[in-house]
Amino acid sequence: MGYRKLDIGWATRITGIDPMTKLILPRTIFFLFLACVSRSAAGENLEVGFASADITPTLESETKVYLAGLELNRVAKEVNDRLFSRAMVLESGGHKIALVSVDLIGLQYPSVLKVRASLADFDYVAVMSTHTHAAPDVVGIWGSSRSESGIDTRYVQQVEDQVVRSVRAAEEATVRAVAEYAALNDESMLGDFRLPHVLDSTIRLLRFRRASDKSICGIFVQWNAHGIEPRDNSRITRDFFGVTVDELARRHDCEVVYVTGANGGLMGTPDGMLRKLLADKDDADPFDAIELYGKLVADMADRALAEATPIELAPLEVSAKKILIPMDNPGFTALRRAGVLSREAYRWTGDRDPKDARQAGGDGPEALATEVAYLRLGELHIATIPGEIYPEIIYGEYPSTPEEGVDFPEASLERTIDAILPGVKKMFLGLANDEIGYILPKRQWDVTEPFAYGRTSAQYGEVNSMGPETARHLTETLAECVEAIQP
Ligand SMILES: [Zn+2]
Repeated sequence: MGYRKLDIGWATRITGIDPMTKLILPRTIFFLFLACVSRSAAGENLEVGFASADITPTLESETKVYLAGLELNRVAKEVNDRLFSRAMVLESGGHKIALVSVDLIGLQYPSVLKVRASLADFDYVAVMSTHTHAAPDVVGIWGSSRSESGIDTRYVQQVEDQVVRSVRAAEEATVRAVAEYAALNDESMLGDFRLPHVLDSTIRLLRFRRASDKSICGIFVQWNAHGIEPRDNSRITRDFFGVTVDELARRHDCEVVYVTGANGGLMGTPDGMLRKLLADKDDADPFDAIELYGKLVADMADRALAEATPIELAPLEVSAKKILIPMDNPGFTALRRAGVLSREAYRWTGDRDPKDARQAGGDGPEALATEVAYLRLGELHIATIPGEIYPEIIYGEYPSTPEEGVDFPEASLERTIDAILPGVKKMFLGLANDEIGYILPKRQWDVTEPFAYGRTSAQYGEVNSMGPETARHLTETLAECVEAIQP
């Protein structure tokens, strides 16, 4: 109960306001320094390293492995392809950060904090989840029943250890490097299964070459779709994300880190696209579709990389902020109180600053602690978003007047992530450091009759969201993070 000293230290070290913070956590000084003072010269040496560590669960033990996403009680029966934690470490000017991707539905924030505690010499560590639905439940809500957690805590501990191991191995592997940036928009590669149709169909990549001989040492890729694993699947798989990674690794003879961007609002493969492409194959099974789409994404990555241009990634600057988000979802609250959604909650008082946060108790409104960050790596501007964000909030492509029937037609539009980030070369990393569910525009919130688009029932989405204010809290916080680094 009560005052949580360490959390507060962590939260304020980032804004660098409270001098006490420096006494609590030495890294504070760095963040203050980093955000407000330090600006090493452009062109400063950059080092990069890549490595991976296996996070596949063991299936022989007595304990059942519940697969996350889709239905309850999906028990893993075999391993189709192994799961990994893949890390990229960047070092410059005496500072180092790690960007990690795990083949999981969404590693929770408390796990990321534990990972960071083991990597205390790093200035920042972000852990993104690809959001494969065919990996062990690490959230808790896909167990055998509504009242049983699907989490095996020993497995989560193993994941945390392996994430740390992958980062340390990447750190060992660092070499002097130069970077290139590429982006390519291809709407034919995405489908939107919720109205209105708004996509982020831009693939964004970094390619690194060794300074010594210009050979490629790694690729960091962000694409924005859900997996395509079939509903009744019982095989552990990285889904198409893994195919894309393997394909790019093979084609370029290098390590690859894949990150999922704005997949909220039901981003998937275009309706019928894979069926059409597989029509000639007599015995096509769902894993053929996974294979095919993964390769198509790799092809798109290569088309983008053909036009890659040099990018300066130093100096490394990070501004991250811990915040509280109100849990305005009775389903989530009930699951949390039942211990199924295994997360600590705080009392929601209307203030997202966790400074005076107290643990939840009684029937009052609750909030979860999570994090938003802005990374300015030289010319590259990165937003980390702790869940599945709708592309509308990335670009602000809304219908000019609110759709008739929505619950909050008067709601003001959230400032978009694209508008909040300065510069032109950007990346939007979703499911970053957390999975708090869908993040949708308040003006599209639609759970009460009448429904928008003349529908007779609600569209799918809100049931998996913290609430209609989530997007505003996250975007306002991102703007504060950007502000903290502005020259
Ligand atoms: Zn999903």
